[in-house]
Amino acid sequence: MPIDAGSGARSRSGAGGDAASETATIKGEDQRESLIGLTREELAERLLAVGVPADKVRMRAKQLWHWIYHRGAVEFDSMTTMSAALRAALAERHTLARPETAAEQRSADGTRKWLLRFADGREVESVYIPEEDRGALCISSQVGCTLSCTFCHTGTQRMVRNLEAGEIVAQFLVARDSYGEWPSPRGPRLLSNIVMMGMGEPLFNYDNVAKALRIVMDPEGIALSRRRITLSTAGVVPMIERCGAEIGVGLAVSLHAVRDDLRDELVPINRKYPIAELLEACRRYPGASNARRITFEYVMLKGVNDSEADARALVRLIAGIPAKLNLIPFNPWPGAPYECSPPEAIERFAAIVNRAGYAAPVRAPRGRDIQAACGQLKSASVPRRSRRAVDIGEALSL
Ligand code: SAH
Repeated sequence: MPIDAGSGARSRSGAGGDAASETATIKGEDQRESLIGLTREELAERLLAVGVPADKVRMRAKQLWHWIYHRGAVEFDSMTTMSAALRAALAERHTLARPETAAEQRSADGTRKWLLRFADGREVESVYIPEEDRGALCISSQVGCTLSCTFCHTGTQRMVRNLEAGEIVAQFLVARDSYGEWPSPRGPRLLSNIVMMGMGEPLFNYDNVAKALRIVMDPEGIALSRRRITLSTAGVVPMIERCGAEIGVGLAVSLHAVRDDLRDELVPINRKYPIAELLEACRRYPGASNARRITFEYVMLKGVNDSEADARALVRLIAGIPAKLNLIPFNPWPGAPYECSPPEAIERFAAIVNRAGYAAPVRAPRGRDIQAACGQLKSASVPRRSRRAVDIGEALSL
């Protein structure tokens, strides 16, 4: 009996061949297509292509989903609810292999960082930041970045490519493998939150990011609530509303400056989408409320954006938006053209914002000793871009 009782096996030249070639560009030697990152419908297509009869496909896709995203299966042979023939047929064309862990580092504070290498040799970093009985995984969306924010290490690297949905989901799977949190716990879990705050600009890779987040939110698998997911953007204004309406995750905005002239320098995408437009998009963000506040990230740069006048201007700017501030002490990296604001300046800044009624926790830097803190991520596989981005900082004699 080929695959499933009553089935007639399809030939290898079935529908799966075409679909598999879509991702051929990022495959290495193993030409098999990964099933990680496919929707349920796509899984069903692949099952049909290996010979599962049409009337069984939905049921089999549900089982496969359960094995991949609830049980964390890494090979088809462990899928005991499927026949040996089906497992073999899947293994012939497909894989559930994780990207290679090129390096794993642990910080003294428990932060863990993975350098992951994909089939084409490209690399990204993911970071796990533990708290008491929970923790957030910081996930990358691109290899490199186009934004060239002057204070960000990733910004000194060239943009290489978007990550596929499967490569985004795989970052979570690797972390969960490493903490042994399979099957997905229903109650408290170490990997309780996701922040799309790694390398890259998630709203420049929206389709793949949205597809990946739908997979991790699916209640029959990893089942992370959208309330536990935060997506951070430098301000890709036209995509913000879609993000809220379609995936409904929490929004964080990398503001970092209160005047367009300064933000044009620090976060160059501001030249395209200036502060007023960005804040208008925040005001309209679907689902924003006092219970679901927008986070404004603000990196504290000594003598650049950290004055009391800046703090007062910030409060005026965000008036009327359900918001909290995330004051991030600047994390230095080799050759960085900035210094971190002194603690007193940060405290004064935070006090002004607090008095205006906004929570403004100062982020204790996590994982600095392993270059895992905000803005320190980079991959050795990506060449540095020209020094233009860094030169802007130098020109300002920072
Ligand atoms: N491109 C998205 C996702 C990156 S999130 C965005 O810009 O929001 C990473 C956060 O860390 C952003 O707020 C970024 O501005 C901030 N950051 C970058 N470099 C930093 C550094 N050296 N120190 C502190 N924060 C930094």
